[in-house]
Amino acid sequence: MMNAEHAAGETAGSPSAGQATGITATPNPLAPFLDEQGYLILDGALATELERRGADLHDALWSAKLLIEDPGLITQVHLSYLSAGADVISTASYQATVQGFLSRGFSSDEGARLLRLSVELAVKARDRFWADEANRKGRLRPLVAASIGPYGAYLANGSEYTGDYGLSEPELVEFHCPRMEILAGTQTDLFAFETIPSLVEARAIAALLRDYPDKRAWIAFSCRDGQHVCHGERLSECASVADASPEIIAAGINCTAPEYIASLIAEAVMGTGKPIVVYPNSGEGWDSAAGEWTGGAELMGIAAHAVTWHGAGANLIGGCCRTTPRDIAALRFALQAASPPSAPPNRAGAA
Ligand SMILES: [Zn+2]
Repeated sequence: MMNAEHAAGETAGSPSAGQATGITATPNPLAPFLDEQGYLILDGALATELERRGADLHDALWSAKLLIEDPGLITQVHLSYLSAGADVISTASYQATVQGFLSRGFSSDEGARLLRLSVELAVKARDRFWADEANRKGRLRPLVAASIGPYGAYLANGSEYTGDYGLSEPELVEFHCPRMEILAGTQTDLFAFETIPSLVEARAIAALLRDYPDKRAWIAFSCRDGQHVCHGERLSECASVADASPEIIAAGINCTAPEYIASLIAEAVMGTGKPIVVYPNSGEGWDSAAGEWTGGAELMGIAAHAVTWHGAGANLIGGCCRTTPRDIAALRFALQAASPPSAPPNRAGAA
């Protein structure tokens, strides 16, 4: 089922070419979307969507648990988001780490296999979707983003939303290294470092990525108000890490209440000249002590705000926890209606 386009997009053995000349030849996977559409639609929640479909994720491995028990359900969710209009789907690896699998009695080889499987499932779903000509109309071939959660997600104790884990930058680099090394060997189009709570972890990620000059990533921070990431630093300062990193091609906000997003986009724009990524949660609160969601989802949903957010500078827009394929379909509809292709009529259909 491998198509020619796929093979062309992931040529093995090319990394050294750019390094040898000192010029980075790695194409920016976001560029065709930004040129053609002006934005990228991301997917919505994976874990909470799996739960909505009956999966039991009460486990330290969270959605990664399904990699072992029911990979077919993960494929179904990926396909739902692609059908809903997502330009990017993210893998079930957010909470999956070699360290986490080891602590559950898996060997490091098995842990590595499960991490690779998370990308294979997304790539297969994307290729299956794209093989159907009807799905290609008015679309660019969707991307796969390998999801990488913060150190706190591996701890699975809610500390990902505070960043209070007292590790230094080198210690955080060391933590992130094994998973990155495995995922770097897969066919993922880019990396999504997400729900990052602190400046020190952002710096660690930028340092880690220096060892992967042919890879591209976005970094999204979890925020506690309209200006600050969960650990307390200004989002502008955190986002500015992207400007010093050729590997980081977008920076922004995820897993944060919709009410703070407009202010946070302005904050991110102050910090970086790179594209801004935004995928808030549904507005419900996570009570980590009780292990449950509280409050009601915001009545209007993210689609109602998407046009404003795009106008304010957000280029990659999607949903995080508790958002669904319906939210993503509404989001695509809203953005398409508000910003029809800017290309002159004679270019229509050229893609
Ligand atoms: Zn989330």
